Amino acid sequence: EELQARYSNANPRSRVHLSTARQVLPGGNTRAALHYDPFPVFIESAEGARVIDVDGHSYMDFANDLTAGFYGHSHPVILAGIRSALDNGISFGGPHRYEEALAKAICSRFSSIERVRFGNSGTEANLMAIGLARAVTGRPLVLAFHGGYHGSFANYLGAEMPLNVDKPRLRFARFNDEEDVRRVLEKDGAQTAAIIIEPMMGSGGGILADPTFLANLRVIADECGALLIFDEVQTARFSPGGLQDLVKVRTDLTTLGKSLGGGLTFGALGGRADLMDRLDPSLPGAIGHGGTFNNNVLTMIAGQVGLTKVATAEALHGANARGDTLRQSLLAAARARGPVLSIGAYGSILSLHFQPKAPRNPAEIATTPVQRKLFQLDMLLRGFYVQRRGTINLSLATTDEDCTAFTEAFGGFLDRYSAFLP
Ligand code: PLP
Repeated sequence: EELQARYSNANPRSRVHLSTARQVLPGGNTRAALHYDPFPVFIESAEGARVIDVDGHSYMDFANDLTAGFYGHSHPVILAGIRSALDNGISFGGPHRYEEALAKAICSRFSSIERVRFGNSGTEANLMAIGLARAVTGRPLVLAFHGGYHGSFANYLGAEMPLNVDKPRLRFARFNDEEDVRRVLEKDGAQTAAIIIEPMMGSGGGILADPTFLANLRVIADECGALLIFDEVQTARFSPGGLQDLVKVRTDLTTLGKSLGGGLTFGALGGRADLMDRLDPSLPGAIGHGGTFNNNVLTMIAGQVGLTKVATAEALHGANARGDTLRQSLLAAARARGPVLSIGAYGSILSLHFQPKAPRNPAEIATTPVQRKLFQLDMLLRGFYVQRRGTINLSLATTDEDCTAFTEAFGGFLDRYSAFLP
């Protein structure tokens, strides 16, 4: 309560914004994931590794738009690309070279992607993947994982999934549990079009899949004739060829989103040519896939410039290495003070859990909502922009000094609230 009062007093303008925005937006904003109590800070501007709110606080950004902001805010190279397009028409309503250039950049990075189709979000990409898998296999069911998140209409975080129109045709298994996958498929394998998985659960808690589990999914999918879909919307940043390249698992289809659009609205489905070519409108029996903004010029340019000029192998590796160093220093800070901490996820994404072992599936998450709230509000008051879910991530603009400052602030948080931590 004391913390909440301090937070409210420090953010009077954000508090007013929430109440006025509520009159026209349910809950005061359009992105459910960004809401938290008592009210979120309203952002005024962002640059590099910082965001500034309407009360004038400048935060070091460790939320980075839930990983979509991997390039950092307003990266000059990406801005230059977008500016070059602005005076040339921002929506052509026809195929164009920027679309082909982004497709080439993606196909050359991901070994399993021979063709790619664009859309406007990760959600769309996953719905497209599931639809395509059903169409090519002629099977109705999809196996997903408890607590997985593939987008707003493909949200498997909660038991009810009220916006999910697809519920009857989904089957669920436990993440990182091969036996459970086999159990489900023993019954429904012949009817299963695809297994869809985040190789690192993002919204579900920053939980990395075991490489052997992923390799076994490849075998299991082949055994029952289902396609294997990796949702790499968050994990594509881990290497030029995504997490699948790190674990050497060849997927049939891959979905992409978030930062691969250079920070603009984006989603993509890529994969084997024989599967993807079913979307070729010139072929008999083509599967229709529309979308007014699928090839929007600004995203195509921002994505291509980002992939070819900014997200080099060295840059991705550097971000992972910086994340690993931060991981070690946060663990050391906790060890030195007493509270129990484990850190999951990988490289430039870190999921903080106040429990002895990082969870292997969402059911093992023991960190409480109160602990998450203390972490978030206290770190905000210390000048670090973090989301409540406890997963932090670095952008390419994050420096070693930013990480050191974060570690110091985190130590301050641990000292202050140790009574609430295990
Ligand atoms: N898949 C994963 C793994 C995600 O983390 C997200 C977004 O949080 C999505 C899909 C959905 O992407 P979008 O929000 O662009 O629809």
